[in-house]
Amino acid sequence: MATTRILKIALDTPLDRYFDYRWTESPEMPSLPAPGQLALVPFGRRSIVGIVVAIEDSSDLPADKVKDVLAVRTQLPPLPPQWMALCGFAADYYQRPFGEVAVPALPKNLRALQSTSLDRALKKLAKTTVLHDPAPADAPVLNEAQRQAADTIADARGFAPLLLYGVTGSGKTEVYLQAAARVLQESAQQQAPAQILILVPEINLTPQLEQNVRQRFPGVAIATLHSGLAEGERMTNWLMAHLGQARIILGTRLAITASLPHLKLIIVDEEHDPSYKQQEGLRYSARDLAVWRAHQLAIPIVLGSATPSFETWQHAQSGRYRRLELRERAVKDAVLPKVKLIDMERDKPSAGLTSNLISALKLRLERGEQSLLFLNRRGYAPVIACDACGWVSSCSRCTAFMVLHKPDQRLRCHHCGLEQRIPRACPTCGNIDLQPLGRGTQRVEEGLQQIFPDARIMRIDADSTRRKGTAQAAFESVHRGEVDILIGTQMVAKGHDFRHLTLVGVLNPDTALFSQDYRASERLFAQLMQVSGRAGRAARKEGGNPSEVLIQTRYPQHPLYAAVMGHDYERFADVLLQERQQAGLPPFIYQALLRAEARELQIAIEFLQQAATCMEHPGIIMNDPIPMTMTRIANVERAQLLVESHSRPALQAFLKSWMAELRVMKTRVKWSLEVDPVEI
Ligand code: ADP
Ligand code: ZN
Ligand code: ZN
Repeated sequence: MATTRILKIALDTPLDRYFDYRWTESPEMPSLPAPGQLALVPFGRRSIVGIVVAIEDSSDLPADKVKDVLAVRTQLPPLPPQWMALCGFAADYYQRPFGEVAVPALPKNLRALQSTSLDRALKKLAKTTVLHDPAPADAPVLNEAQRQAADTIADARGFAPLLLYGVTGSGKTEVYLQAAARVLQESAQQQAPAQILILVPEINLTPQLEQNVRQRFPGVAIATLHSGLAEGERMTNWLMAHLGQARIILGTRLAITASLPHLKLIIVDEEHDPSYKQQEGLRYSARDLAVWRAHQLAIPIVLGSATPSFETWQHAQSGRYRRLELRERAVKDAVLPKVKLIDMERDKPSAGLTSNLISALKLRLERGEQSLLFLNRRGYAPVIACDACGWVSSCSRCTAFMVLHKPDQRLRCHHCGLEQRIPRACPTCGNIDLQPLGRGTQRVEEGLQQIFPDARIMRIDADSTRRKGTAQAAFESVHRGEVDILIGTQMVAKGHDFRHLTLVGVLNPDTALFSQDYRASERLFAQLMQVSGRAGRAARKEGGNPSEVLIQTRYPQHPLYAAVMGHDYERFADVLLQERQQAGLPPFIYQALLRAEARELQIAIEFLQQAATCMEHPGIIMNDPIPMTMTRIANVERAQLLVESHSRPALQAFLKSWMAELRVMKTRVKWSLEVDPVEI
């Protein structure tokens, strides 16, 4: 008689359990499946791919309720136990079913009903000869601080969380590369394969880093993983990592769930960056998962930043993380820029630019140097309004304004995507003189063109770089010196090593000073330090002028700006951390946020009230349900309930039973839980 087994399979469903399927030995499925293998199974009326988690002799279900497995992808080596454990941890920690975390973490083509593209990719990879010559190409000589940092990383054994705290331009990348070189070389000597995972926050930073890494390690297979890859490429790269062929894996946050059987070192560049936090679906922190992964595998992890997140800084202060410091810029004679404030009450801006900033731009144009203007608001104007009756362009579906986009003559809601033509006249009173209020990058660009008609001006934001490849092309032309004035959103503020830039102008940063979100000032400070750090990265010429950062503000007395002027992250962090401790805010308390969405706000609030009182909660602070700041998006009303605890285990234990309770609660409200929320 043919052998049969029951496979426990994890599927991408909201049901928090595994599903039983029968495997029967047959010519199509000759070998016994193993945990970590992918299997195609019938589910309802569909077929879907799941992950085998266990193999048992029998099922608790009656035999006629157990369906047969349709296929097992035995051509693919099983997902290793460490990968299963990572997804298991993420599922537990973020309070989701295992299948809902693990299955979507795989590339889409792996989950396809047909295995043709998998087979093709595997065949192609089997044919490529994989070089593992770790010898690096020529590298610059590290300065003393860099060398100490690189040695500490490469010498670290076991779980070693290291904060690489280095000012902007201090050459953190070079430290990563040379530490990586040593890890690869030692592994080659010991004939034990090593993989290194490097995470970067922004997809636009991957080409530059990828190029550096490829040049440095001509004999090593490198794979990138980010959302900009086509599905086929994504699967091939993922397979290169999973099969152990790729030795350096470079990616954005989603790369943290790659299968890396020989992982020996993790590097998280710009670890403070908000984009490590996934803000929809499974709201995970790639940085936190990276630390867990390093701990699980007992390997070193490097968290690099000039402005570490307060969580990380706190760990470094308390000694849990070891701090490595780079206090100077790496390029000889490159110095941090001089930061100055321009009081907008005294120097009133026209077209958004103060006369001081215009003069500074003019000077750079005369000297043939580049300038960067940073304004974190895309579009032409955030709203248009009627002076006669007070009408403003609100989105009919959201608690938000419709933003004016001038190049395509549209009003667009940045939250729900609603688009309209610009009305010719006021919809309420017929006034034809509608005025744009405030300014975004497009409007600043327009103003600049009028002031400097001969300057080569380039705007880089989400609108100007929508088509694939345009962002990279734009950055390359900046690097080649084909741009005089660059204007952009946070896209241009991070990480880029612009060599010709000697002036940074910051427009309109004040709004974040008075935000209700206590993290807004941490983010603003980091952003200003980062964008300032784009200036003055090349050696200053003999007798030349230092590069400058000019911040236009109405609040020149604000202590946050004083800290930016002093490049004083440490004092800023220590003061704010003290405030947070006194106020009982993270990282001194642990939080989770239950969100509810409904057609009517009252229904969402009532659900949250019910959730708040549905069980005992000793050791847990249960706050009142409140409408979210952005209450309505796409005609859905949103409310939230914050729960807190001084103990992470207590919060985790509570959440687990709470979720079990909520899952069986009858409600038409759509709800979701976020652990360690960053925007409240
Ligand atoms: P960070 O990431 O710390 O802001 P980067 O890694 O971008 O800084 O390095 C800044 C610049 O310094 C880069 O152009 C890099 O090539 C250069 N650099 C780094 N290390 C050295 C070194 N030891 N000698 C000379 N130049 C260096
Ligand atoms: Zn009107
Ligand atoms: Zn909208």
